[in-house]
Amino acid sequence: MPELAEVELARRVLRDRLVDREVGFRLLDPRLVRAGEVPAALTVTAVLRRAKYLLVVSQRETLVLHLRMTGRLSGAEAGRVVLVFEPSGGPPFYLEDPRRLAELWVLPSSEVEGFFTARSLGDAPWPEVRPAAWWLERLGGVRSPVKIALLRQDRVAGLGNIAASEVLWRARVPPMRPARELSPAEWEAIGRHTVAHLDRLLDVEVGLDLTYVTRGGPNPFSVYGRAGAPCPRCGTAVARGVHGGRSTFWCPRCQ
Ligand SMILES: [Zn+2]
Repeated sequence: MPELAEVELARRVLRDRLVDREVGFRLLDPRLVRAGEVPAALTVTAVLRRAKYLLVVSQRETLVLHLRMTGRLSGAEAGRVVLVFEPSGGPPFYLEDPRRLAELWVLPSSEVEGFFTARSLGDAPWPEVRPAAWWLERLGGVRSPVKIALLRQDRVAGLGNIAASEVLWRARVPPMRPARELSPAEWEAIGRHTVAHLDRLLDVEVGLDLTYVTRGGPNPFSVYGRAGAPCPRCGTAVARGVHGGRSTFWCPRCQ
């Protein structure tokens, strides 16, 4: 699953390539489309993001795209292309999806708000730093371990499995602590480090190809994917466990 930083990076690339241009669309696999009909072309006025959804906006219609597990946007044609963006005066851009799990909704732009309301997506913890009260209101009553609570997209939208491990390590909060037992100071730290983590990923990765460890690239993370390696803060071996079916990495000493 692409994490929030990857989707944001894709948004920035699409924005730079598509906004203020007439963009043609060539649909190669109709299974991509969940609602509406892909237009032959439209003039893109903005490319936005809501949690992990990308919005290609025009005056009349908006394309809402979720990459799901294996969808990927690329400037080079490779793999199984399901949709081609053809901006006027620029090179084409490809949506690849080897497992064909990506989803696209073509909606009247006036119906986009209702679409997200119906999906009960929580508010975003980024780019502004959210204070302790904001986190307490959304996750302060949750009984499950904080690592699992942070993935509740109906409460806080956009944090993925990797980000949850990294943010908790940065904030020195053990992942198995029940969310409702965290102090305001701990939520404050989670809020601050959520923004720091995502900002850093977006700063260090250049271009569209964010080489996440999950895809075999070099590992840019402090604890994620580093079981047994020394904690960058205290040198203790990083632990790995499974919470809610997903891998969690943490430092058993300084966290
Ligand atoms: Zn440590």
